[in-house]
Amino acid sequence: MIVGVPRERGAHELRVAIDPKSVLVLQKLGLEVLVEENAGLLAGFSDDDYRAAGADIVSETGDFLERSQLILGVWPIPMLLEHSRSLRAGQVAIGFLDPLNEPKECAQLAESGLSLIGMELIPRITRAQGMDALSSMATIAGYKAVLIAAVQSPRLFPMLMTAAGTIAPARVFVIGAGVAGLQAIATAKRLGAIVEAYDVRPTAREQVESVGGKFVQLDLDADGTEDAQGYAKQLGEEFYRRQRELMAEVVARSNIVITTAAIPGKQAPLLVTTEMLETMPAGSVIIDLAAARGGNCEASVADETVVVDEVTVMGPTNLPATVPQHASEMYARNLTNLVGLAVKKDVEGFDFSDEVIAESLVTHQGDVVHPVVRSLLG
Ligand code: NAD
Repeated sequence: MIVGVPRERGAHELRVAIDPKSVLVLQKLGLEVLVEENAGLLAGFSDDDYRAAGADIVSETGDFLERSQLILGVWPIPMLLEHSRSLRAGQVAIGFLDPLNEPKECAQLAESGLSLIGMELIPRITRAQGMDALSSMATIAGYKAVLIAAVQSPRLFPMLMTAAGTIAPARVFVIGAGVAGLQAIATAKRLGAIVEAYDVRPTAREQVESVGGKFVQLDLDADGTEDAQGYAKQLGEEFYRRQRELMAEVVARSNIVITTAAIPGKQAPLLVTTEMLETMPAGSVIIDLAAARGGNCEASVADETVVVDEVTVMGPTNLPATVPQHASEMYARNLTNLVGLAVKKDVEGFDFSDEVIAESLVTHQGDVVHPVVRSLLG
């Protein structure tokens, strides 16, 4: 089987789905690898690096798509739509598809007979951890959010005792201690800040403490905040109003607030109001990692920096792309682990039967097959 790695089309997308090291992994599965010209350039991988790993470089996109039976991308939908005439039934494409927000685009591609597998739909089960790209990318986002905050802040992070006086450490508050939040806590801690964190899931306390954060205990009823999969549930405006009220004093004493609170498939809850910003020290920084889903901070605007009452509020929506080399390596590992479930050396074709593949399948044999995506099409 021939696998194709396209050049990403997104304006700010610097990642590539497969790095040269992962070419070797795919070859061990019996796959022949085609890479679109300059696909890895922005992530630090040259065409020669891919050639040295045994891949073929293809310059013409139509030719590349016609030859590839399996397409591995980061955000493959725009290029697939642009070149849909080169697609044929039986091809498989894997990548982030954003199928809950872009169901129509998926339905359009289904018509060509292409099978689409969404990386955001991989079940969060133990045996699929090695394929969990949401987690690997959230890890990078949490790390980078703290670095951006540190650069933006007019203050240092660590406590310093110098001949020029003692510098007090920065106070960082992380709201939402999932994958991104925990990495943010660990990173801020490594930079020497005093780190506090809160999450509605009671199980998060132990995880916050294990990476060096202090869990903020709020007088809120934690019963029923977590669903059977371990995710936070949507909790209603009265709960969030009380949460904002109780968190206000923690926000007011923080120099940096990193918000990551999310509910799968829903708008992010509003947790930091513009009024709360007025109480923060001048020069404080908020990084809202939920900005793509409406934001946890009232003032945040996706992919923009705004300043309100001397507080800088940033809403970056694709931080993994700003660390393209490692993000590509981690994503490629997730992809090759997934491909390994469906492709076996010396066995013909792509096997869709594994539960991880079956649950992540959006389109197959001309139809939209994922029940949630289907329901969105009406
Ligand atoms: P996410 O991105 O959906 O949400 C981020 C965090 O926001 C979550 O921890 C959530 O509890 C929190 N949150 C939601 N509402 C909040 C509020 N009002 N106030 C404060 N925090 C709020 O979640 P995620 O980071 O993708 O993962 C969350 C959970 O899934 C964690 O328990 C994680 O350990 C688990 N997980 C399991 C696996 C696995 O078993 N394979 C893999 C990844 C994640």
